[in-house]
Amino acid sequence: MDQHLVITAPDRPVGGTVTRFAPSPTGYMHVGNLRTALYTYLTARHDGGTFILRIEDTDQGRKVEGAVDVIYKTLRETGLTWDEGPDRPGKFGPYVQSERMGIFKGYAEQLVREGKAYYCFCTEERLEQMRADQIAAGQAVGSYDRHCRDLSEAEIAENLKNGVPYVIRQKMPLTGKTSFDDLIYGHIEVDNSELEDQVLLKSDGMPTYNFANVVDDHLMGITHVLRGNEYLSSTPKYNLLYEAFGWDKPTYIHCPPVMKDAHQKLSKRNGDASFEDLVAKGYLSEAVLNYLLLLGWSPEGEKEIFSLDEMIENWDPARISKSPAIFDPLKLRHINFEYIKALSPEAFTEKAKAVIGDALLSKIENVELLCKNLQPRTEVLGEIPAQIGFIEAVPDYDNELYVNKKMKTDPVSALESLGTLLPVLESVPDWTPDAIFAACAAKAAELEVKNGKLLYPLGIALAGTRSTPGGGTDLAIILGKAETLARVKAAIEKLSA
Ligand code: GLU
Repeated sequence: MDQHLVITAPDRPVGGTVTRFAPSPTGYMHVGNLRTALYTYLTARHDGGTFILRIEDTDQGRKVEGAVDVIYKTLRETGLTWDEGPDRPGKFGPYVQSERMGIFKGYAEQLVREGKAYYCFCTEERLEQMRADQIAAGQAVGSYDRHCRDLSEAEIAENLKNGVPYVIRQKMPLTGKTSFDDLIYGHIEVDNSELEDQVLLKSDGMPTYNFANVVDDHLMGITHVLRGNEYLSSTPKYNLLYEAFGWDKPTYIHCPPVMKDAHQKLSKRNGDASFEDLVAKGYLSEAVLNYLLLLGWSPEGEKEIFSLDEMIENWDPARISKSPAIFDPLKLRHINFEYIKALSPEAFTEKAKAVIGDALLSKIENVELLCKNLQPRTEVLGEIPAQIGFIEAVPDYDNELYVNKKMKTDPVSALESLGTLLPVLESVPDWTPDAIFAACAAKAAELEVKNGKLLYPLGIALAGTRSTPGGGTDLAIILGKAETLARVKAAIEKLSA
């Protein structure tokens, strides 16, 4: 696969904005994730900065085979190209978290040396007992009781000498408040007494997710951290880590969730569509991206349709909305329709052919004409087959379909019209739309009736439905001469029965 093609990333612009998209490979790209990727990409590109892809794959329990490929594929399909990543190593790699595991222990130990973190030797049994005691005492369950925070030097040395397993915990301030500013949510303050002495390094020497995330962001020079607001409540702890190390803090930009409705988050696990599902249904990747842009962000004017370059130009992360965004399938359809209408006829035909499939294509005499008629009627590509089911076979239909007040037709007049048209169609010199139309119109003029009197019944005879991509003459071209004549004869028979 081409992601194994490794290209060395160019040097970063000095002092520029650096953002990262840090997905955990779960096997699909849900639309909320893709929106985060887009906003993260735009924040870097608007400033002429660097966009990094970092794979956060340390949660082995959630690891899914092929999931990283889904991330690459989605970002490539949507044009969100990254400057540095697993396949574009720069000076700040590796860019896959599981390959960075050797980095973190030293940082955790540095904090221990500086008195900002400590070894905790509590066994799992003790922690369980602690939780049971908390429940019995009617206290909030979960927070570590800081049993090892003040062990004596001698006790620590003894435990280490005896190889007692330990984790490293961060020493949270016991009093006061921690605050930080989020570009979207504003000034946030928490009482330090609410913060647990979180584990930084596990007993196997591996970092916890939160610790690795902060150290990686620092080492990779990330200036703007964009992510879902589910991380907002952990951010005070992240912030305290930056302070403990004396590192520059990034600008925090937390995005509100993408909701299915007022109560439920949109989630693949609940059966909601992922990016791949939407594309499979016939949404264009550009349209999905454009929809996601507007899902929780508003531009200054009324403009709705943005190319990627226009998104970059107009982007301002401060305009991300604070309120949860509700996924609106109708709006997505509307935007998709705009993108479909804007395709060149050739591009639309290519996409439509892929949906129609070879079996049905072999029954279509003029695909270009069919597609010309389909393009202004198609909101989502996946709905094309339902519009052209009549090509395979005329569905069972009621002769009442021939009733059309405007055209002054009914089953009796239709029988007459089709009887008149059959020899006209049989003798049309060229099977082209113009020639067929001219022959039918000449016949109508001769009979002193409107064209519709003949052509409306022709459409029903050929398709067995009123909703067709094109009128009777176009359907004749799409189906071809032999099939058209056969269907007109069958309709005459059905009307005579
Ligand atoms: N790996 C995290 C996720 O996929 C992202 C966390 C972050 O951006 O800081 O949810």
